[in-house]
Amino acid sequence: MKTPVIFDGHNDVLLHLYEAGGMATSETFLTGRDGAIDQAKATAGGFGGGFFAIYVPSPSNYDVKMQEMTKPSYDLPLPAAIGWKEALPKVMAIAAILFNLENKGALKVCHSAADIRVSLSKGEIAAIFHIEGAEAIDPDLHNLEVLYRAGLRSIGPVWSRPTIFGHGVPFRFPSDPDIGPGLTDHGIRLVKRCDELGVMIDVSHLNAAGFWDVARHSTKPLVATHSNAHGICPHSRNLTDDQLAAIKESDGMVGLNFAAAFLRGDGRMVDDVPLEQMLRHIDYLINHLGEDRVGFGSDYDGAIVPKGVATAADLTNLRQAMVKHGFNDILMTKLCHENWLRVLEKTWGS
Ligand SMILES: [Zn+2]
Repeated sequence: MKTPVIFDGHNDVLLHLYEAGGMATSETFLTGRDGAIDQAKATAGGFGGGFFAIYVPSPSNYDVKMQEMTKPSYDLPLPAAIGWKEALPKVMAIAAILFNLENKGALKVCHSAADIRVSLSKGEIAAIFHIEGAEAIDPDLHNLEVLYRAGLRSIGPVWSRPTIFGHGVPFRFPSDPDIGPGLTDHGIRLVKRCDELGVMIDVSHLNAAGFWDVARHSTKPLVATHSNAHGICPHSRNLTDDQLAAIKESDGMVGLNFAAAFLRGDGRMVDDVPLEQMLRHIDYLINHLGEDRVGFGSDYDGAIVPKGVATAADLTNLRQAMVKHGFNDILMTKLCHENWLRVLEKTWGS
């Protein structure tokens, strides 16, 4: 099953292209690459696009981190904070890859829900310029103004390591997300300015105190682009029932993260996860949020995911499992893209 097309809350393909050689390597998105997303895999699996994250890497080793998370319990130390002067050139370099892909006709950088609808209807990959971790934004928010003009439409105040705006959750299992203080004064100003501009605030990676600060200070729907249900997998990165209630109340949504460690009840980053475990989270999220507030946030190219959905080409398996599970056509369309479009339209105003 290749339809309904899936619009997705999170992928890290740009980081991988950056680390593999930047502009020189971005061609592999069109010609084929080893990772989870490229043009051929997107077409084969009905991957319509989504949030393309720009993330400034820390020196920590990805493989070591993933290995540590295969243990029955873990508490990974967070990498050191990165200042905006160090982060900004990297954000520019990674954003340049996104625009290069657009220049080559691989995708379209969308600025509104209407733009996304047009791209999806044409079978063109719809990309949202998203920054995961606001390190590149200066305390005066000047860089936010300029990045918005360049097409930025979504930002996470933190990717787990601390920023001048707030504190993230460490990768800890088992644990609830109530670790550390909330948003700083800079963080509250960031939220308010993003609301005014029409830049979505992503609460995935925020700790509980930061989440509640966003809930207090933002007038927009609360959105977690790639997080799961703490009631099924008690990981610090997952959302508690109280948080889900606040997301519902704000008419926001949650994108289901495919990362094995946030799906499995035992919190291990190991890929032998049956698709039924993903359906358990979807059912749980629907029970708490309603059918209009759940979508996908794969974390493709950023995590170890279940074998059955190893790459974007395998999204056909996920749809099949959903239909077998009893989801009707209307619900399938909502989960696959319509809920994202609804919430983005509400957040951005068009
Ligand atoms: Zn993430």
